[in-house]
Amino acid sequence: MGVKKKTEAVPELPDVRIVHGILKERYPDALCSLEYGGDPWRLLIAARLSAQCTDERVNIVSVPLFRKYPDAHAMAEAEQGEVEEIIRPCGLFHTKAASCIAMSQIIVHEYGGRVPDEMDALLGLPGVGRKIANLILGDVYGKPGIVADTHCIRINGRFGFYPVDLKDPYKVEKILSGIVPGAEQAAYCHRMVLFGRDVCTARAPKCASCPIRAAGACRYGESSPAGTGGTRADGRDGGEP
Ligand code: SF4
Repeated sequence: MGVKKKTEAVPELPDVRIVHGILKERYPDALCSLEYGGDPWRLLIAARLSAQCTDERVNIVSVPLFRKYPDAHAMAEAEQGEVEEIIRPCGLFHTKAASCIAMSQIIVHEYGGRVPDEMDALLGLPGVGRKIANLILGDVYGKPGIVADTHCIRINGRFGFYPVDLKDPYKVEKILSGIVPGAEQAAYCHRMVLFGRDVCTARAPKCASCPIRAAGACRYGESSPAGTGGTRADGRDGGEP
């Protein structure tokens, strides 16, 4: 006689509509924290400068940068050394200056000065990866675009949409693209950044006072005595990079 196998309970995934509904109430204005005045090219440049730099610093540096180089045409003609001097506080100024100039030259010569609105074309610009491309697609062109940054990856793993130790931005992007409605993807990701700085922080998420937890939509850290999210209910470590 066969031995009956015990069926393991599969935890129910949260409803993304509930999660996003809570975040919408908490952060009604889900705007990009980079200041670009609605100009796609400026967002592209600001996003490139933001690698390993805070958005606040980029916003400061952007003022003199865009005063001197107001559009792709001006940047395409720029002297690299002069751009470097302005963007030096953002770090990695040599490679960032080179790619800002090179991407502007391509935008001018191949796209008539207009930032392209297709993923493949955006990825063909020097210094542009999927994160920046999705930011442009979502924020500027209103297309679906999951910006899989560190907050987005960490928080959605904690929600249980994928294993908490999955850190591959491309895989996260693909999974969330199938869960979050296309028209909401850009705002969802902006809210992840705000929520990640405010509540669901990397090292010490405030699970005990979290509105997502209160709605029963996140079980991460339930077994942690103080509800600080140190350990998942499934026993996996809650440490973050
Ligand atoms: S319960 Fe904790 S881990 Fe889950 S979303 Fe809230 S703060 Fe983040």
